[in-house]
Amino acid sequence: MQPLHLYNTLSRKKELFEPLNPPYVGMYVCGPTVYNYVHLGNVRTFLTFDTLYRYLTFIGYKVRYVRNLTDVGHLVGDGDEGEDKIGRMAKLEKVEPMEIVQRFTNDFHNVMAQFNTISPSIEPTATGHMVEQIEAVQTLLAKGLAYESNGSVYFDIDAYNQRGGNYGKLSGRILDDLLNETRELDGQSEKRSPLDFAIWKNASPEHIMRWNSPWGEGFPGWHLECSCMSMKYLGKQFDIHGGGMDLKFPHHECEIAQGDGLTGVEPVRYWMHSNMLTVNGQKMSKSLGNSFLPAELFAGNHPLLDQPYSPMTVRFFMLQSHYRSTLDFSNDALKAAQKGYRRLANGLRIAKTLTYQPATDESGPISEDKQQDIRQAVQQFYDALNDDLNTAVGIAQLFTLLKYINMLYLNQLQSATLGEEVFNLLKSSFVSFMQDVLGLTEEGSYNQSILEGLLTLYREYKEQRQYDKVDQIRTYFKAQGLAIKDMKHQIDWAYEE
Ligand code: AMP
Ligand code: ZN
Repeated sequence: MQPLHLYNTLSRKKELFEPLNPPYVGMYVCGPTVYNYVHLGNVRTFLTFDTLYRYLTFIGYKVRYVRNLTDVGHLVGDGDEGEDKIGRMAKLEKVEPMEIVQRFTNDFHNVMAQFNTISPSIEPTATGHMVEQIEAVQTLLAKGLAYESNGSVYFDIDAYNQRGGNYGKLSGRILDDLLNETRELDGQSEKRSPLDFAIWKNASPEHIMRWNSPWGEGFPGWHLECSCMSMKYLGKQFDIHGGGMDLKFPHHECEIAQGDGLTGVEPVRYWMHSNMLTVNGQKMSKSLGNSFLPAELFAGNHPLLDQPYSPMTVRFFMLQSHYRSTLDFSNDALKAAQKGYRRLANGLRIAKTLTYQPATDESGPISEDKQQDIRQAVQQFYDALNDDLNTAVGIAQLFTLLKYINMLYLNQLQSATLGEEVFNLLKSSFVSFMQDVLGLTEEGSYNQSILEGLLTLYREYKEQRQYDKVDQIRTYFKAQGLAIKDMKHQIDWAYEE
């Protein structure tokens, strides 16, 4: 079997994944800035890393997964000047900044639960790590890698590069180009070079989120929290750092400079970036007005949506593309995903109920071809995920396994034809690949005994040829998004595909 390879943005290659201290893996993912509702684009990034976390755990690693909440320091416009995103909302709504943080943290957690993501091992906040951040600024100043200017402290990129740093190496930006692109904005005159970035900002009188520091009242620069929190919980060098592609520059570039500057060690071994969810080819973002919220998607009440879509449909839709490709939202694609997901969900429900029936005189001989096909699909699922988490190819293998599960269910295949070992492999692989690795579960809370009761009535009415009653029961199932499967050997229900 091909071992796990991950694409490293830093080397621009797929690399064999070798954690620093196996079986332990340290993984840090940039979490949301909790000033607003997360949109579906943000969700894509978090689902990518949830799936990676699930897969690493599934193949036996013990993962410490840290995903932060940005609750201070991220300024409107993502630069070094302007209002704090959270402070701005607090002012608009005339509430405490921490009320904004709490409200959108709750929303984020709800959304993550709806999409069946696993909570990180640690979810640290920037405001909860002020001491660490102030200490980091002091260390960088002491090392001559930062300078104070009017109560703010800036990271000195020239000094860093002169000591062997290579600012720009992650994103592939050339310093001269960056300098040409950078306009001199108000306040940037405090900086020695326009590329230098704030690690501590002096708070203007109207700025409400402020802390005491050796440089006066202020707040940390946006990039600093991730360096400090990853270092605190994962060490000065750790295995995986993830985030959306749009964070490569400047956020992650600055994290490398800070981490390396603080400890002299390259902070991250594998940098992973997930690509953007787009709408008509444009990045989904709040500022472009083309974003919608998970709640709007589940209710179907947004002009871009033809109908509601369930969380698992959306999760499946996202996993059907490779995380490094852009993924364009469309109703057609989501409708196709709904169908695909429901087929798998039916398979999952059935698979859990299948039991091995030992060979009888009537069951035919073992089919080596089928055994081989199932073994190969299982193998290829691992190969796909080991190939830089290729969930798209992995899902295709799930459909091969589904074919056999359906054949067993429809009595077109006897479990004895597969032999007990391959039957068990089929069942356990299908269930665990779907639930544990891809995080796809059955949806809806159906009361199994009520459904069974209705099916009993259905059978009776059918025998009595009371077809209006039979139709009534069918209509009831349909209204719940379910269908009655009237098969030769049994009557059952299924998710409507
Ligand atoms: P933010 O709250 O803006 O810091 O974003 C949280 C995460 O969502 C970051 O990792 C972003 O890179 C990611 N993100 C933002 N927009 C999109 C999008 N359209 N598609 C995928 N990821 C996104
Ligand atoms: Zn970050």
